[in-house]
Amino acid sequence: MSVQANLKEIQKNISDACAKVNRDTKEVTIIGVTKYVSIERAAEAVETGVSHLGENRLEGLKEKSNRLSLNNVVWHFIGSLQSKKVKHVIKEVDFIHSLDRLSLAKEINKRADQPISCFIQVNTSGEQSKHGLASTEVIDFVQKLQAYPQIRVVGLMTMAPLTNDESLLRSTFRQLRLLRDDVQKLHLSYAPCSELSMGMSNDYAIAVEEGATYIRVGSNLVG
Ligand SMILES: *Cc1c(COP(=O)(O)O)cnc(C)c1O
Repeated sequence: MSVQANLKEIQKNISDACAKVNRDTKEVTIIGVTKYVSIERAAEAVETGVSHLGENRLEGLKEKSNRLSLNNVVWHFIGSLQSKKVKHVIKEVDFIHSLDRLSLAKEINKRADQPISCFIQVNTSGEQSKHGLASTEVIDFVQKLQAYPQIRVVGLMTMAPLTNDESLLRSTFRQLRLLRDDVQKLHLSYAPCSELSMGMSNDYAIAVEEGATYIRVGSNLVG
């Protein structure tokens, strides 16, 4: 399928999900996750109008951002981030979705020349294999980030469990939204935390119904 045909279907599903809960589709940004695909396929996505792209490795990011540099792509780093790669990654991206430890915040703070927009990754499912803070750790973590002025907490990110259980997915996304609201209530200047990065190919429609502002779609869009 062409990216264009896939995108049309995804936009239709987003629009249906928004209609159900009275949201404006403009509140939802699609991040095209290009980690599995060639530069040519990523370029096709950009030509189709996908202006936000996500990569989970420094190598893929560099390769694609070099080639697509003329296209004003907004780059998202969505993979787990090793501290030693921070200095390279922050040069290439606009958003980091995987802030999950203070040592990483410290390294970003040390390397950055200007505030870096970060999502705190939350392990809402509690699965051992997944990265991210436990929900109960998030508030304390956000407060500790005050020590790192180059960190700007734009929102929270999660990966839902791999399941078709709709009620479990829904409660996972809802939990992230409530946690986002709790962070907002702290009124911290460095943590506006208005965004929710949640929903992938299998579950983005539910995520949108539950308030996602960024969905990260790979296989259904470019796969
Ligand atoms: C790969 C990946 C995605 C996209 O997954 P699909 O199921 O292909 O849509 C989204 N988010 C993260 C963090 C990923 O690693």
